[in-house]
Amino acid sequence: MINFSKYADGLAPVIIQDAATQQVLMLGFMNAEALEKTKTDGKVTFYSRSKQRLWTKGETSNNFLLVEEILADCDEDTLLIKAHPQGPTCHTGTTSCFGTANDTFSLQALEKVIQDRKNNPSEKSYTASLFAKGINKIAQKVGEEAVEIVIEAKDDNKELFLGEAADLMFHYLVLLQAKGFELKDVLQVLEARHKK
Ligand code: AMP
Ligand code: ZN
Ligand code: ZN
Ligand code: ZN
Repeated sequence: MINFSKYADGLAPVIIQDAATQQVLMLGFMNAEALEKTKTDGKVTFYSRSKQRLWTKGETSNNFLLVEEILADCDEDTLLIKAHPQGPTCHTGTTSCFGTANDTFSLQALEKVIQDRKNNPSEKSYTASLFAKGINKIAQKVGEEAVEIVIEAKDDNKELFLGEAADLMFHYLVLLQAKGFELKDVLQVLEARHKK
């Protein structure tokens, strides 16, 4: 799958990408042993050039990278690993080692925030208050926002229409979470239809 002998030091570069948001998180190096361990454990283990030993990302911080998929490039000398980070990947506390300039807002990124509000509710959070009210109330909210976008669609106020479009999308994501689903479950259904 990958030819480590292409490198004099036996270390191949490995790009780590967030499997949910597609954000590039970091670059590390692996030797054959690190790759084997990564496959066995389902957690990313690099060979650290500074530590001069195998280094499981998260070994002290618990911010492990749980492996979703391992891909080799066209000439089999570089790896791309799609992973689920258990916390900030960079030791400076940022999501990505490439800093906040590389933070990409996406529906998946928003979904992560919604998941976090569900799992760690705080009194100040509107999203947490929705989860506290339960599925029926959330579904009703989606219905209300759907009616509101219908009303704004008849008008030509761009700002109000986009505002209602955002409200609907947000509450729809909350409903998916409340039902125990994720955007990727819906995307799977859409993808299956697309392939027909
Ligand atoms: P961790 O693997 O997250 O438990 O962190 C252990 C040590 O590895 C930290 O104290 C840093 O020295 C180093 N480290 C952690 N994350 C990174 C990273 N993304 N890039 C480079 N070094 C890191
Ligand atoms: Zn290559
Ligand atoms: Zn870093
Ligand atoms: Zn609204």
